[in-house]
Amino acid sequence: MTNNNFKVALLGVPFDDNSSFERGPALAPSAIREVLNGGSLNGSTELGVNLRDSKRWLDAGDVKIAKAESFIVEIEQCCEQLLSNNTRLLSLGGDHSISYPLLKSYRKYFPKLTILHIDAHSDLYDSFKGNRYSNACPFARVMEDGLCDRLVQVGIRTLNFHQEQQIAKFEVESLEMRHWPLTEPLVFEHPVYLSLDIDGIDPAFAPGVSHREPGGLSTREVINLIHNINTPLVGADIVEFNPNKDIDAMTSQLAAKLVKEVAGKMLLS
Ligand code: MN
Ligand code: MN
Repeated sequence: MTNNNFKVALLGVPFDDNSSFERGPALAPSAIREVLNGGSLNGSTELGVNLRDSKRWLDAGDVKIAKAESFIVEIEQCCEQLLSNNTRLLSLGGDHSISYPLLKSYRKYFPKLTILHIDAHSDLYDSFKGNRYSNACPFARVMEDGLCDRLVQVGIRTLNFHQEQQIAKFEVESLEMRHWPLTEPLVFEHPVYLSLDIDGIDPAFAPGVSHREPGGLSTREVINLIHNINTPLVGADIVEFNPNKDIDAMTSQLAAKLVKEVAGKMLLS
């Protein structure tokens, strides 16, 4: 399906108040933009879109979050403004708590929606360290509010009993790394929103995360998952990159590469 009316905007969400361990993801949008706007990066994506030439690709700047307590309303309102203007969002977190308000807004515009969630963690805790909006909880809130028709998780390698109960309760399709590779390709019926936690990728490729969990996906495997989405990719977030934990800008360059490939895919959707 080609619809050239919409634009795809990069939106920074420099917010990490709901990090359950180390702070730092609030620094990610500027670190990723530094690579995107630096001289070394090639503007071409593998699917044949050159972001530097595309008039449909723009930078919408950062969400200004005045008060941490009202992050949900503030992110949701900013997202709403852009979506109502026929813009689709590629958001840069921030910790993973930002996906919930983004999806609250997305749901109003996409009555049928599948979430493809790439992560080492299922992020389905009902509450974590007393915080129901922790970065360990966003998909429990998403499922309670019915913000998608289907949640497919890939890269998972940290399940415990509580999360297995949540997976059963919410009928989540949680595909664990211990069973990787997939025996059949992922097939979607509805438009897809991609929520990409950088720690889904193996820390050998992406050391700049707060929760390193070895045994993850390779960069190539994640790019292929993105390229192979068979329905329109209508929105995405790339979260949990922590520049304080990075080594020689490896992870900021990886995140910038993922921005390119996700943007290219969205522009072709
Ligand atoms: Mn994670
Ligand atoms: Mn996560």
